[in-house]
Amino acid sequence: MTDTLDAPAAVKPINHWISGAAYGGRSGRSGPVFNPATGRQSGAVDFATVEEVDRAVQAAKAALPAWRSMSLAKRAELFFAIRELFHARREELARHLTAEHGKVLSDAMGEVTRGLEVIEFCCGLTHLLKGEMTEQASTGVDVYSIRQPLGVVAGITPFNFPAMVPMWMWAPALACGNTFVLKPSEKDPSASIAAAQLLKEAGVPDGVFNVVHGDKVAVDALLDHDDVAAISFVGSTPIAKYVYERATANGKRCQALGGAKNHMIVLPDADVEMAADAAISAAYGSAGERCMAVSMLVAVGDVADPLVEAIKQRIPNVKVGDGMDASSEMGPLITREHRDKVASYIDSGADEGAKIVVDGRESCPDDGFFLAPTLMDDVTPSMKSYRDEIFGPVLGVTRVATYDEAITLVNENPFGNGTAIYTRDGGVARQFQFDVEVGMVGINVPIPVPVAYYSFGGWKASLFGDRHIYGPEGFDFYTRSKVVTARWPDPATSSVDLGFPQTR
Ligand code: NAD
Repeated sequence: MTDTLDAPAAVKPINHWISGAAYGGRSGRSGPVFNPATGRQSGAVDFATVEEVDRAVQAAKAALPAWRSMSLAKRAELFFAIRELFHARREELARHLTAEHGKVLSDAMGEVTRGLEVIEFCCGLTHLLKGEMTEQASTGVDVYSIRQPLGVVAGITPFNFPAMVPMWMWAPALACGNTFVLKPSEKDPSASIAAAQLLKEAGVPDGVFNVVHGDKVAVDALLDHDDVAAISFVGSTPIAKYVYERATANGKRCQALGGAKNHMIVLPDADVEMAADAAISAAYGSAGERCMAVSMLVAVGDVADPLVEAIKQRIPNVKVGDGMDASSEMGPLITREHRDKVASYIDSGADEGAKIVVDGRESCPDDGFFLAPTLMDDVTPSMKSYRDEIFGPVLGVTRVATYDEAITLVNENPFGNGTAIYTRDGGVARQFQFDVEVGMVGINVPIPVPVAYYSFGGWKASLFGDRHIYGPEGFDFYTRSKVVTARWPDPATSSVDLGFPQTR
């Protein structure tokens, strides 16, 4: 088999990336990659065997001693080079996203830009890796802590952010001195290979960053590998829970971010036009395939009728089409199966008593995996379309009488990723931030993804593990601390003392 990353063939082979070069898989197993806007297969991605995963881990292990020994000044310089290269080539990366995920190019550029912000944060690695120091903790004794990398670490990522979510992981992991094996989503794997090529071009030594493609076989091989010290996972809740349990049972550090059901509460005093604009953007951007997408609108009191009407008026203006077309605002879903599953929630909602205000099946392009924006009113918590994470352009509205009912809905939901409140009342908003059991909160901000110098993560079934991803908690996750107690005594004062060391 040839290593043909750049082959312009109709169905391009997508290989692993091991020790700084493409590695054609020998398993005989591969998965189809589609252009979701046309529905046609564009690629075939190799699926790794246990042995191929081991090959990648061994490459990362071999690269570790030199990488972790590199001076921080040199590693920071390299990160500035990585930042410059990724910035210069951001459109190239974004085009991979549109071609395989389907999101519109402007949205793909936004994804790459948010990932770049994480790389920019990592350029401050010299400061971020500082330890602490106490002089004269005891007479003549100094104590200090140092932060050291974990070793070989692995990341397993979802289809919906094929560039940004891997950057959330590999950038801080590498900045901390670890070497990395990435198992990206098999549905849109090309951005990871493009990133690998850019890292090599920027000067990252071979073996520091590796990519293995595949399915459960590859994931399990990473979870079980003795030489993998930590696992970062982002994906759906059932797999996040599985990954967390298996990785930690194997003694690994693990952060596993899961799915979501994000509520946007609109209070009666909110600006209805502004709330409607926000709901449209947050529910239908990236075809609702965002873990921070708003999927439930909680309309409090008499705001419900004007709000539903304002959203309904806006929906026909959302331009659905091929993401490569600059006029498109919303692209297709990732696969035909997923598109059909999302559409099935319109039927189940109607069957359970919801009112279908706008049915996206009636106005979407024929080719590809499209579903146009859908709006369902009178959705209640017992309905399947409320309980499940739909992960598509289907926005549900639930009507409640009071703020207290609204916050109870959010807090009783098993997920706790993101939420937003729309109001002009600062006091209520402040109470909301205090009360709400969700990891990321927006006040008149519909998609509150934290900036790169804070950390990203939900609560409850949206995160397994105790460290959020990127930002300061990312640096905590990818390092372990060592505390050194040091004395440089005068030999003349030496004596034997069998008592327990004391500081006074
Ligand atoms: P997924 O859980 O199906 O897949 C994620 C990764 O796990 C992929 O690399 C996949 O190959 C692997 N995987 C799938 N099934 C597996 C199995 N049985 N055993 C081992 N590995 C397996 O998720 P997805 O459909 O790619 O992504 C969408 C999901 O990700 C949504 O639920 C979304 O909310 C979530 N997500 C969460 C966040 C967050 O930050 N919390 C961010 C993005 C996406």
